[in-house]
Amino acid sequence: MEPEIVKQLIQLSRDVLVNSYCPYSKFPVGAALLCEDGTIYSGCNIESATFSAICAERTAFAKAISDGHRRFKAIVVSSNLDGFCTPCGTCRQFMAEVCLAHTMEGDEEYSTANAGASKTYPLQCSALRKNGHVMIKGRPCKVMEMSTSKTGKHGHAKVHLVGLDIFTNKKYEDICPSTHNVDVPNVNRSDFQLIDVSDDGFVTLMNDKGDTRDDLRLPEGELGTKIREEFGKDDCTVIVTVMAAVDEEAIIACKNATN
Ligand SMILES: [Zn+2]
Repeated sequence: MEPEIVKQLIQLSRDVLVNSYCPYSKFPVGAALLCEDGTIYSGCNIESATFSAICAERTAFAKAISDGHRRFKAIVVSSNLDGFCTPCGTCRQFMAEVCLAHTMEGDEEYSTANAGASKTYPLQCSALRKNGHVMIKGRPCKVMEMSTSKTGKHGHAKVHLVGLDIFTNKKYEDICPSTHNVDVPNVNRSDFQLIDVSDDGFVTLMNDKGDTRDDLRLPEGELGTKIREEFGKDDCTVIVTVMAAVDEEAIIACKNATN
């Protein structure tokens, strides 16, 4: 990269420090982000009492992404510290995701990138949201409730999490310091056409490329009964949705796609 551009990035990341809104941390941070086409966006940190401050890095990315940029070359982060100002875990996760080549270029490429992704990724506990996913006691769960409490005068805020296992619906609870990282499962959903249901309860499924698989069971209970019923109808096309997370897969929904 040309030294002139590096200088310019450093200058911009410093200039924007004055716009920082940091009444809680009193720690202004500025960032300058270089997009692939040479456009530069600056950003400062913006705090609020909700614990969900936006860091300078993500402010710059948010501006660039909402203007349609998808590929990035470099980011400079400045503060009033003498030494280096290193990005927080949330920003690192964010930047790792948006900077993965192709990640944001289209759904198809996204799912390809996702296929090689790890089973879980770390996220700061305070960044979890209701209806999002989180690992609790080693199980992939949907977040049903989360409440934050202070534990005392000098105590760290703790988050009480209640989740439902996305495969078994079993309830799990956990308490985690709000600044600690938790594991979030990568959850994927894909649709298949139902080709056959065998007597022993296994199904044959076909994806839109025509590949078949027969390693999944019909789910138990109401959903299984409904799938058998729909499939038993004449000239009926049944589409099932398969959810996958952390080495587990299950059929979670079905619809009759007959025109
Ligand atoms: Zn950050």
